[in-house]
Amino acid sequence: MKKRILLLAGGQSGEHEVSLMSAKSVLAALPRDQFDVTPVVISKQGRWLPPTDTARALESGVSAHGGDLVLHRAASAEGYDAVFPLLHGPMGEDGTIQGLLTLAGIPFVGSGVLGSAVSMDKVMTKQVLASAGVPQVAWALALRHEWRSTPDTVRVRASNLGFPLFVKPANLGSSVGISKVNSAGELTAALDLAFGLDRRVILEAMTSYKPREVEVGILGNDTPIASPVGELQFDAEFYDYDTKYTEGRATMHIPAPLPDSVSQRVRDIALTAFRALDCAGLARVDFFYVQETGELLLNEVNTMPGFTTTSMYPKLLEAAGISYSELVTRLVGLALEKR
Ligand code: ADP
Ligand code: MG
Ligand code: MG
Repeated sequence: MKKRILLLAGGQSGEHEVSLMSAKSVLAALPRDQFDVTPVVISKQGRWLPPTDTARALESGVSAHGGDLVLHRAASAEGYDAVFPLLHGPMGEDGTIQGLLTLAGIPFVGSGVLGSAVSMDKVMTKQVLASAGVPQVAWALALRHEWRSTPDTVRVRASNLGFPLFVKPANLGSSVGISKVNSAGELTAALDLAFGLDRRVILEAMTSYKPREVEVGILGNDTPIASPVGELQFDAEFYDYDTKYTEGRATMHIPAPLPDSVSQRVRDIALTAFRALDCAGLARVDFFYVQETGELLLNEVNTMPGFTTTSMYPKLLEAAGISYSELVTRLVGLALEKR
């Protein structure tokens, strides 16, 4: 019997459009002899669109208004064998949808509530990974109410990390709301921006030199495997939104031109992090490699990474010998096995 799959895409985060692109690729790749796939696009307003509106949104790359309330639709999702929540960022990659699906009793692709929520929050990730001995940059947490009531304490906390530093909303992705702060004079604008998007903000020391950015794909549940390591090269101050999503601004190198010992450490640390964060199914683990000092620092863990046929995660797994359609098939298998 064919497995009935609900493919969720879009969602309320700034990564709505990226998710729709990923979903189109997955939809085309899930083998039809094994799967009956129903795509449902979640609008930017959080409504679950009916089939005709979903088809239109996938076609045009952006969702219309309308649709059902989340809970209403989830109740009728009982007719599915598994859900592929191909959603990035808040309200999708952060444990919220995972909680809903867990309540509804439907297996789903990727990490559960705990792994998703902890990995989405850059502060919680750092705390958990520090206790697992994973090397990371120095950092501090700031809360919106502190920025409103005692801004000088936040400024001091930031300055103690030294300049330049990075200011980031704790729960976002795609570099949205992230600033590289070169001097104390630039702090206010950076903090206002980040606190406009999240009540938790992470302040991060910059790596000692501009880092090389290397990434590795993890696949599996309790016995995960790590892909070869990839590297992103780009000509920008840092890997900001425009650099990420403007065609031709960044190039992917797989395998990354790194000494074997460094690649092996990337893979080992990524597997340690995947386990420490209780991830499942898949994750793309991103690192900074400071060539000048040899430091390797874990930056973040993405539990639902970009998933078009040309995205880093599927390309990394392809380098491990797993084709795109085999990959999506395996992910559904891992979702069913997790139960
Ligand atoms: P997102 O989850 O939005 O991708 P990241 O934490 O990965 O956020 O930051 C986006 C980019 O900003 C990174 O890929 C890197 O280019 C730059 N960056 C972030 N933090 C640092 C840091 N501490 N040191 C150097 N570069 C950084
Ligand atoms: Mg991220
Ligand atoms: Mg990132």
